[in-house]
Amino acid sequence: MTYNCWYECMHDPAESYSIFDVIYRCKDGDGLLEVEHDIEALKDRSADEWKALFDQRTHSKDFPYGSGVWGKKEWVAPLVRDENIVSMYEGHTNLFNAHLLGQQIGLPDLWVKLCGNSHTGSFKDLGMTVLVSVVKQMIAEGKPIRAVACASTGDTSAALAAYAAAAEIPAVILLPRAKVSTAQLIQPIANGATVLSLDTDFDGCMEIVKQLTEDPTIYLANSMNSLRIEGQKTIGIGIIQQLDWQIPDWIILPAGNLGNVSALGKGLLMMKALGLIDHLPRIACAQAANANPLYLSFKRDYQAFEPVKAKKTLASAIQIGNPVSYERAVRILKAFDGVVEQVSEDELADAAARADRTGLYCCPHTGVALGALIKLLEKGVIKRHERAVVISTAHGLKFSDFKVGYHQGELAGVNSRYANPPLELDASYAAVVEAIERRIGI
Ligand SMILES: *Cc1c(COP(=O)(O)O)cnc(C)c1O
Repeated sequence: MTYNCWYECMHDPAESYSIFDVIYRCKDGDGLLEVEHDIEALKDRSADEWKALFDQRTHSKDFPYGSGVWGKKEWVAPLVRDENIVSMYEGHTNLFNAHLLGQQIGLPDLWVKLCGNSHTGSFKDLGMTVLVSVVKQMIAEGKPIRAVACASTGDTSAALAAYAAAAEIPAVILLPRAKVSTAQLIQPIANGATVLSLDTDFDGCMEIVKQLTEDPTIYLANSMNSLRIEGQKTIGIGIIQQLDWQIPDWIILPAGNLGNVSALGKGLLMMKALGLIDHLPRIACAQAANANPLYLSFKRDYQAFEPVKAKKTLASAIQIGNPVSYERAVRILKAFDGVVEQVSEDELADAAARADRTGLYCCPHTGVALGALIKLLEKGVIKRHERAVVISTAHGLKFSDFKVGYHQGELAGVNSRYANPPLELDASYAAVVEAIERRIGI
């Protein structure tokens, strides 16, 4: 059976293109192109056969099918030939059973999908493996592509730089100066990308990279490019697979440019269309109150969308005021009976630290999602008997400045209720014993 996929304008199904064309937007200049799949062809396998195939490929040594993305290749990008696939065996990250944190906040059936336990430390790897593989195939077929480029809040650039380096394709990275963590800044530098640090914010970098990639030899790797959505789509499918194909009541995730929530919904809708699930979970998007255009729109029933000027937030990867995937995210939220919640800097920092006390190591964005979960529980939107999965989007180790600042009590607007600074002592046995006794008793 041959499977097929193509770009289709979200406003006009008659407008379609090959995924190997250099094109990112509809003719109307406004809508985005979605990757569509031949669902009828995919029905040649039953739901149970797809489940069995995906289970059997998990962690397989048969390249590239052991990857969490390429194990679902037929659903993601069937037209990419295996020899062009640039994979680091991304995906299949742990679904952490967070029952201890769950008990503490009053939601025992709580799970955290650790997407940050990935090659470059964030879920962005899942999308980038697809995009860079498609570009590799385009170059192999003679397309004159000189480089791949993106604007980034830090994680997209790390992923693009790593996959492009592996594929020997030059990468150009536009970063807002002093607005990404040290770890995020050094990743593309180490991978040999051309790193341009601009005196603006993410939205400012995005404007420039859009102009830059009007040149068709510089290929745009931001999530406006729907190829990334196809890879990220496997997160929701993977969560349900890890729950033995059971559907949680809620999936909660931090949201900035709104590509990931769109991807989550797209994967789940495909599972429903192919009979792997019989109903949809609900989705909760979490935003920082300092960068909350989706929250404001939700409050107005999505009647009107106004970009905001994103203020500084510890959750730097979602400091975005004009999200490119707004329209597709709203479609998803409507289809999934979704809600949007916002959290303050204090709430997100405490939520991350509280979760860390139960063995996690959360990035600030995961703190946003956990903080929103706590608020939605208190409001009774999420019920205490329900099963919820929080998507942890990046690894805490990428955000050491945030962690250190929290535990030293130095973050502006944050009370650091769970601070646990080291005790500085004389090098004396007596002082050590006394300190331990005071702290835990012996
Ligand atoms: C990119 C990113 C997000 C937000 O994803 P969007 O698709 O932009 O909504 C959240 N958390 C982290 C750590 C990210 O890197």
